[in-house]
Amino acid sequence: MEEAVKTTCPYCGVGCGVIATVADNGAVSVRGDPDHPANYGRLCSKGSALAETLDLDGRILHPEIGGQRASWDEALDLVAERFARTIAEHGPDSVAFYVSGQLLTEDYYVANKLMKGFVGSANIDTNSRLCMSSSVAGHRRAFGSDTVPGCYEDLELADLVVLTGSNLAWCHPVLYQRLAAAKAKRPEMKVVVIDPRRTMTADIADLHLAIRPDADVALFVGLFSHLVANNAVDQNYVAAHTAGFPEVFAASAAVSFGEVLERTGLPAMQLREFYRLFTATEKVVTCYSQGVNQSSSGTDKVNAILNCHLATGRIGRPGMGPFSLTGQPNAMGGREVGGLANMLAAHMAIENAEDRDRVQRFWRSPAMAEKPGLKAVDLFQAVADGRVRALWIMATNPVVSMPDADAVEAAIKGCPFVVVSDILKDTDTVRHADVLLPSLGWGEKDGTVTNSERRISRQRPFLAAPGEARADWWQLAEVARRMGFAEAFTYAAPAEIFSEHAALSAFENAGSRDFDIGAHARLIGQAYEALAPFQWPQPAGRARAESRFFADGGFYHADGKARFVAVRPVDADRTCADYPFTLNTGRIRDQWHTMTRTGKSARLSAHIAEPFAELHPRDAIELGVGNACLVEIESPRGKAVVRALITERQARGSIFVPMHWTDQFAANARIDAVVPAITDLVSGQPASKNVAVAARRFKVAHYAFAVSHAKPTEADAAYWALAKADGGWRLELAFAGPVENWADWCRRVFSIPKTVEPLGYADAQTGDVRLAFFDGTRLLAAFFLACEPVAVARNWAIAQLGAEHTNMRKRFGLVAGRPGADKPDPGATICACFGVGVNQIVAAVRSGCHSVEAVGVALNAGTNCGSCRAEIRGIVDGCLATAAE
Ligand code: SF4
Repeated sequence: MEEAVKTTCPYCGVGCGVIATVADNGAVSVRGDPDHPANYGRLCSKGSALAETLDLDGRILHPEIGGQRASWDEALDLVAERFARTIAEHGPDSVAFYVSGQLLTEDYYVANKLMKGFVGSANIDTNSRLCMSSSVAGHRRAFGSDTVPGCYEDLELADLVVLTGSNLAWCHPVLYQRLAAAKAKRPEMKVVVIDPRRTMTADIADLHLAIRPDADVALFVGLFSHLVANNAVDQNYVAAHTAGFPEVFAASAAVSFGEVLERTGLPAMQLREFYRLFTATEKVVTCYSQGVNQSSSGTDKVNAILNCHLATGRIGRPGMGPFSLTGQPNAMGGREVGGLANMLAAHMAIENAEDRDRVQRFWRSPAMAEKPGLKAVDLFQAVADGRVRALWIMATNPVVSMPDADAVEAAIKGCPFVVVSDILKDTDTVRHADVLLPSLGWGEKDGTVTNSERRISRQRPFLAAPGEARADWWQLAEVARRMGFAEAFTYAAPAEIFSEHAALSAFENAGSRDFDIGAHARLIGQAYEALAPFQWPQPAGRARAESRFFADGGFYHADGKARFVAVRPVDADRTCADYPFTLNTGRIRDQWHTMTRTGKSARLSAHIAEPFAELHPRDAIELGVGNACLVEIESPRGKAVVRALITERQARGSIFVPMHWTDQFAANARIDAVVPAITDLVSGQPASKNVAVAARRFKVAHYAFAVSHAKPTEADAAYWALAKADGGWRLELAFAGPVENWADWCRRVFSIPKTVEPLGYADAQTGDVRLAFFDGTRLLAAFFLACEPVAVARNWAIAQLGAEHTNMRKRFGLVAGRPGADKPDPGATICACFGVGVNQIVAAVRSGCHSVEAVGVALNAGTNCGSCRAEIRGIVDGCLATAAE
């Protein structure tokens, strides 16, 4: 009988509820949970494609030691023995955990407890350091606690939503859909987008401020002065609930409007309009994300924003407040358990002796960490210089995602003992593990996650654990037991961990700490199983109706008052003659992190199938880079080669490159190898949005495109980018020179038997080569090579993998790279849910569909998850504008 299980999406911090159904034949389908308060039934393209990522291809199914299969006992004994020996010989700070916002709260809790309370070191940091640690630091400075004051509903209730450093449409798509729907209902609601690029999010903006990189502090310091000058300060709130206003007033007064204009690079009219809107609108929400956080001035940016909301008292009331949007599904859960090296469990402070004592008594721990541990960048530097000699990496891929990624890879390679817990064998990090531990993936895990609005939801299993895979919390508890801490790690199920976590949150709390879920301190068995999504706090014995913080003060500094933090704009331009461009890295709509899961879905890969660099048209002309040429991006730390995407959306002098591509999917596109390890001094968060780089055309002799039934292997080419496609794989290629025998090259790379002769030709005059290999009527592989970027329609070529090639005319049509009149090329996929391409949308507009809704009626595009609606709107507007010229 079919079983429907309520769980939570494992991708972004929106934390959408998902209903997964397993059919009798084992097939899984997913849909949005209509009852979940984060998404009310919606899912974005990534969430909708979750069922396509659950196969066991590449899964780690049993522990390995040195690349050889081992039993759990052998692997766990070895991990415990090596960690214990390293600690005995070199001290507690010679070992470290590098964990992840992908971990469930229960996993995170046990990891943090083991390291901080039993090893006696705080050397546990998380990839959330790269995501939102500047927000944590900013919150703690202003509020005395890491509190997100508002909730998602505020975006719908606001009259002005400011999105700064947030491409909400692509990075938090369901929240964007909620905002877009609210604006459609109340067109008088205003949206301001602050971003150097005109991202898809800007398409619903009333005002787009194409600010210079890292000029946000100047912008919000200028706003603060404007609020003061225009009597927008809530004097009662400031007097009753805050401290430090005069210092911020003085610091802001030192920054003139002219300086703000100069630093932000914005036209005066736009700046004035933004300030006017903010000043005049009571219900304002300011959302910020990685564009704010991933900066060497990230914490100051956060405090510059918080200062404006505190000054106006616009915080914690419906429709108003600052709102940090977390990137990862459980970044917030990690913060709750103290998964950052400079935090303690349950939002307590590691620097505070009373807090340390309290946690130690609760854990009955033998050796509490007494000082903050190493933050991510420092941690890998300590691995590199030998201070950290045993490292356990869980559920993350730092060889791709850390800045200065090549140096991080070298550090991991050189570390005497590396343990990796993961689900996939072939990642850039796993290949350096001494001990490999098979973990559970989404659909198998059992625990909780917390989303950006403090809502704790269950992730429930609906699939059996494959092979010998086990939960991360179990692995940690088993190692703890073997290290001599059995009594404190007796957990038999995640419910026991969650109830301990909840009990610690309430321990000697009495309202002194924001994080209190004491109501769940005795949650076990069926009650945990049935736990419905809830927002914290939920203290024991007190029903809390209010879901927001700070409307009436009640901050967590000792005097109960918030702190204004005086910040000053700093010079943000890092470019120089040798590195004249500013690189900004980020996400795309249909991939998640390092593509280990979303890269399995042909549907998701159809949206953007290779790494790219967005360039402004005039920069492209000056560089001699045409559309679809290859471009090399270089900094003093490293190089990457990606496809040029020339667009007016990009600002002059700036380049955007996505952060997803790994060595599994491209020859040389790990963009974090180019990003230096510059960090925010307060938060330790790396600055991934403002990197000085050089860019140049990557010269090649031949470009090629191929589709293949079999997964290509060892594509020895100057450039390659691989993506899953319906019925096989697609491969973009470029070669520095000719290959002796192209047919043999294809046979080797596409695993085609030697006996199969290709159909095709090589044109010596043009340099074109076209080859197609058939097995009966089935296409095995097709290869198109030219001296310029290959103009073959990609989606049409991919469709040939599933087509019957019964007659020669069709086969020659394939070799020629020409779609037949009966099968026009749909163009690059825009709507991943219904597989609708750009050419189909353009045709629909030309035949009279002049709105997103009309395109939806004609093609279904944009009518399911809605993630592509902003792009459809752009295509419709572009076609209509062209027609009007
Ligand atoms: Fe998942 Fe998309 Fe929801 Fe994020 S917005 S939680 S990726 S379905």
